[in-house]
Amino acid sequence: VSFPRVGIVGLGLIGGSLAKRIREVFPDTHIVGVSRNQSACAQAIADGVLSAANTEISVLADRDLVFVATPIETIVDTVKALQAILSPSAIVTDVASVKGDIVAALSASASPRQKEGVSKGLRPLDPVAGEATVDSIGGKAALDPVCGEATGVQGAEPLENSSLFSEAEPRKKALFIGGHPMAGKETTGYAASEAKMLIGATYVLMPSTDPRHQVFETYLKNLKFRVVTMSPEDHDEAVALASHGPYVMACLTAGALLKSPYADAGKQLISSGFRDTTRVACSPAEWGTAVCLDNADAVLGFLQSVSADIGTLSALIRAQDAAALTLYFETIAVHRRGLFPV
Ligand code: NAP
Repeated sequence: VSFPRVGIVGLGLIGGSLAKRIREVFPDTHIVGVSRNQSACAQAIADGVLSAANTEISVLADRDLVFVATPIETIVDTVKALQAILSPSAIVTDVASVKGDIVAALSASASPRQKEGVSKGLRPLDPVAGEATVDSIGGKAALDPVCGEATGVQGAEPLENSSLFSEAEPRKKALFIGGHPMAGKETTGYAASEAKMLIGATYVLMPSTDPRHQVFETYLKNLKFRVVTMSPEDHDEAVALASHGPYVMACLTAGALLKSPYADAGKQLISSGFRDTTRVACSPAEWGTAVCLDNADAVLGFLQSVSADIGTLSALIRAQDAAALTLYFETIAVHRRGLFPV
């Protein structure tokens, strides 16, 4: 499975990495990037990663597949603007780290058949403001609209030839599939992007009964992702445990050193253990704020659970209960070793 015409909105860490990985696995893909960042566009074209780039999403109207890799709060308007211009047979997908509100907002305007695939258990729908226009994305228009066009990149046969993409059953809008690649690092921007970061990574997809879901899943597997399908609600609870909560814990651990009267002495002693447990505290503060606010219920649930355990642990230490502490630490060590077997 391949998509000959791919679009990527947002040419940062994730968008750039996806473009690089697609170019690596499907070298003939015509990939058009949309970004406000002209130097990232120029670099991606010079690298041979993008076939063309622009600041306006209107250039993506002929794409078979579009990834939206911009900050969480921009996803809904961007997807709506894309659905207004893409062929109904196309797929538009996002990579945002929180899914509930995005999938709910976009399923509100999906065709009935698209809605069938959205799992029960969604959060209440957000009131959807009016349809976004292309202009609402391009609030970046101060830049030269055309970043560049590469030559020599050949497109493959369009997928419309496939019966899966037949328009015999017309849809009002391109299909939206919520997604989240579970890969990243604490640096941002195209310069930090790399294809290898994505190889073997888990890619969470929101469920859908539309046959294009299966096609997209196969495409991701061809890119060597491990695809997991999960409801938006389960995703947001699970990602609080796997990513957002650990990020907050890393900040709390680094913060304890920062505010301690023994900070200077502590800084002399920190080593690999401190570095490993606090690495993700270097993630962009805007990302941390966005996931805490957008996934507030799940993050607060995580903190409540940890607070209760801190109380229990504190009581065991105060009671000098060596047996209970050893049992606790050993249980956690066995659990942790099992998560990353060597
Ligand atoms: P990033 O490196 O900062 O890239 C963000 C991209 O979005 C840049 O191209 C940026 O363009 C563009 N952008 C920023 N603000 C925008 C706006 N208001 N309107 C339109 N475009 C805008 O961030 P990232 O880590 O790739 O994150 C992108 C998405 O991936 C987010 O939704 C995030 O939740 C998700 N994600 C991140 C990770 C991770 O570990 N970082 C992992 C999985 C998923 P400019 O350069 O012009 O600002």
